Amino acid sequence: MNIKKYNKEYYKKNREKILEERKNNRNNINKRVRERYRENPEKFSDRSKKWRQKNPEKSKLNNVKNRVSVKFDILNYYSNGKFECACCGENNYFFLTLDHINNDGKKDRKLGISFYFKLRNNNYPEGIQILCWNCNSAKGIFGVCPHNDKNKRMKEIERFLLLKYKVMEDKKPKPLSNNKAE
Ligand SMILES: [Zn+2]
Ligand SMILES: [Zn+2]
Repeated sequence: MNIKKYNKEYYKKNREKILEERKNNRNNINKRVRERYRENPEKFSDRSKKWRQKNPEKSKLNNVKNRVSVKFDILNYYSNGKFECACCGENNYFFLTLDHINNDGKKDRKLGISFYFKLRNNNYPEGIQILCWNCNSAKGIFGVCPHNDKNKRMKEIERFLLLKYKVMEDKKPKPLSNNKAE
């Protein structure tokens, strides 16, 4: 039996054990792969380029899988497994985003999805929380989410809007009476 075949057989028989070991050992494995990559980057990129050309469909699927899996890991970690917005509790996966708690994410935003990989590779540093699109952009615009009613500024804006709305209500034409027959 040649070594390739032997490895394949071994993997088949001990799949669960191997996967479990890999999972527990992910950081070390990633480190080793990165080291090997640094030693000989051309060999690596050559090989993966060839593989991608040979398997375009699989390669596309892998890309999607990697993106979904990294987002899953990030949401899982920073929401303590709750998968919800830290502000309003929105739990639709597609609405959930990363937020820099101290609004210092300008540089990181430019990285796009690679920022997610960076966080995971760096063992989930502090300063990040999960917010939904609504709460995240409101925080971006007002400096604080309107859900946070402890904030004075938001209270003022709310009072002003309510007042304006009331004035508008007074000016609205009265609904027509239904008793035309009278
Ligand atoms: Zn929210
Ligand atoms: Zn909110």
